[in-house]
Amino acid sequence: MNTQEARERIEQLRKEIREHNYKYYVLAQPAISDFEYDTLMNELIRLEEEFPQFRDPNSPSQRVGSDINKEFNQVRHRYPMYSLGNTYSPEELQEFEKRIKKSMDEEIEYVCELKYDGVAIALTYQDGVLQKAVTRGDGVQGDDVTQNVKTIKSIPLRLRGNDYPPDFVIRGEILFSHQGFERINRQKKEKGEAPFANPRNAAAGTLKLQKSSTVAQRPLDCFLYSVVGEDLPYGKHYENLRKAAEWGFKISAQLKKCRNIDEIFDYINYWDEKRTQLPYEIDGVVIKVNSHRQQEKLGYTAKSPRWAIAYKFKAEQAETILKSIEYQVGRTGAVTPVANLEPVPLAGTTVKRASLHNEDQIRLLDVRINDTVYIEKGGEIIPKIVGVNKDKRPPDSQAIEFITQCPECGTGLIKPEGEARHYCPNENGCPPQIKGKIEHFVSRRAMDIEAAEATIDALYQKNLVRDVGDLYSLTKEQLLQLDRFADKSAQNLTDSIEASKEVPFPRVLYALGIRFVGETVARKLATHFRSIDELAGAGYDQLIAIHEIGDRIARSITRFFSQEKNTEIIEKLRKAGVRLETEKTEEKHNHTLQGATIVISGTFENHSRKELQDMIAQHGGKNTSSVSSNTDYLLAGDNAGTTKMEQARRHNIPVISEDDFLKMIGGENL
Ligand code: NAD
Repeated sequence: MNTQEARERIEQLRKEIREHNYKYYVLAQPAISDFEYDTLMNELIRLEEEFPQFRDPNSPSQRVGSDINKEFNQVRHRYPMYSLGNTYSPEELQEFEKRIKKSMDEEIEYVCELKYDGVAIALTYQDGVLQKAVTRGDGVQGDDVTQNVKTIKSIPLRLRGNDYPPDFVIRGEILFSHQGFERINRQKKEKGEAPFANPRNAAAGTLKLQKSSTVAQRPLDCFLYSVVGEDLPYGKHYENLRKAAEWGFKISAQLKKCRNIDEIFDYINYWDEKRTQLPYEIDGVVIKVNSHRQQEKLGYTAKSPRWAIAYKFKAEQAETILKSIEYQVGRTGAVTPVANLEPVPLAGTTVKRASLHNEDQIRLLDVRINDTVYIEKGGEIIPKIVGVNKDKRPPDSQAIEFITQCPECGTGLIKPEGEARHYCPNENGCPPQIKGKIEHFVSRRAMDIEAAEATIDALYQKNLVRDVGDLYSLTKEQLLQLDRFADKSAQNLTDSIEASKEVPFPRVLYALGIRFVGETVARKLATHFRSIDELAGAGYDQLIAIHEIGDRIARSITRFFSQEKNTEIIEKLRKAGVRLETEKTEEKHNHTLQGATIVISGTFENHSRKELQDMIAQHGGKNTSSVSSNTDYLLAGDNAGTTKMEQARRHNIPVISEDDFLKMIGGENL
């Protein structure tokens, strides 16, 4: 690989990893498996070592992935929270142990622990009373989730005994048992809500709920794994944890002291085999040096302690028979082949179906009906087929012929140039596409109308709603004809439809479900075009002239507005009074930043630096280049300068994100 190629690959990996971090830590909806993520991260680390000229302190390899969510208050950690170095390979673990031995000419005691797969939390206790519960965040500061954590029964609000330090922090992992996880997913399904993909996502999502009363109804649990502070009873990790158990904390019964690498491997091998019998999920084992003095001597890298490592288990696999393939049609018309399997237990649940992604994947795996296949759970909710045991293939098996017609409406499928998937082009006549569009339109981040999937299905079946515009002519009487609808629920739905007329234009634009127009693009379009009519009238050239609107998006937008059906829908929305233009609050906007001095640093997801500077000026603010005590805000994006960040901290200047900024200038609830 030459230098130019390395630079490009490094940039691409950083971008991809940041995106996965956001999906995993903030949205709690990862798109890939941990193993796949770790493979990307290892490639990045390797390239950064090989090409040190591209090292960057802001690279995701150097920073803890952040779970910060602006809906909570952020609290600075008294003791920074690090990540853990990890490995899947016994050889690398041996190297870790050798490195430690080499740098320390004395006996070393290790502690082996289970690596719980949940969410990290830091609890502060003063005089035996729980004061604060803060998520790991970016390691330096995290979200204050104290109210939610107080609902977790296994976390003591007040400690037992009287020999705890007056002020200390204890860290642990918040999680769901398999049983608890299944219970909440059952409840979610009953309510017509999408289930969580796995216990970790469920724990991460639950911990960040805004309503503590909902958190209280879910059986979260917490294992504590490290005591931190100045006046701890012992200078050793294991001994402090044992003591913490006496104060009332839930400490793992599986902690084990080990004297050498053989004992460490015995522990790992034992739990690799026995992990399926645990009532909760673990994704590996953590090995830590026991003595605090030795820990200090070994120190930390930018991201993790040198005195600990996580040995991660590969995702569990199961072998089962592929019985048939069915084809699902999604909101965008994309056709996904899904395998029906002979039910098989895997990582705590019974698996009956697995994703096969697309035709290429079927060919690549060369998978056939009645084959014995290997399945694995990835980031998504349905597991995937990762291989075929060809030794068990029946002699008469046939290669799979991918379907040519839509299984829902019979229209001939198309496979656009350069895409791996097949699509049903009948977007306005194919039932799952119509229903999918409505589901997207009502979703929380779009119009936020409280209509469950089952309701939309019923409205569609009864021919009451055929497109999103029809929602606005629904009457309470019509709703009362539907099963499960009583006076109150019908009123709630009509109220919520009425309230959606106040949703700001950028979200309406996103709700329309124009292909490739996600929230970010919708916001961008709404800052350039003040109304849907202006946008509809914009030609391809005008669209691609906008920063980060490329050919694919521009084509999709012009296509959307050229379809008569979409014009009809827009007219229905207009008639109903849905907001199809940016509010005329120009006056107010001009003054929102009056007198404020703002420094910009880093790169941003939605806007170029020039666009941000213009917006600051339009709203009466001033953009300057360096942070001083006269600065009011530091607007920081990716790779924001460390000096600027440090100066902002020193002068106590609020650091705001692009989202915060957009809200400040009047894009509330975008
Ligand atoms: P990590 O999860 O590998 O290790 C650190 C965490 O382990 C700690 O913060 C703590 O929460 C937890 N932990 C559990 N038991 C512990 C114990 N006994 N002692 C100490 N800590 C314990 O590291 P991370 O920085 O939180 O996350 C990185 C990992 O998360 C990646 O390696 C990857 O597996 C996963 N990830 C996946 C995606 C994805 O898209 N699938 C995205 C981001 C991160």
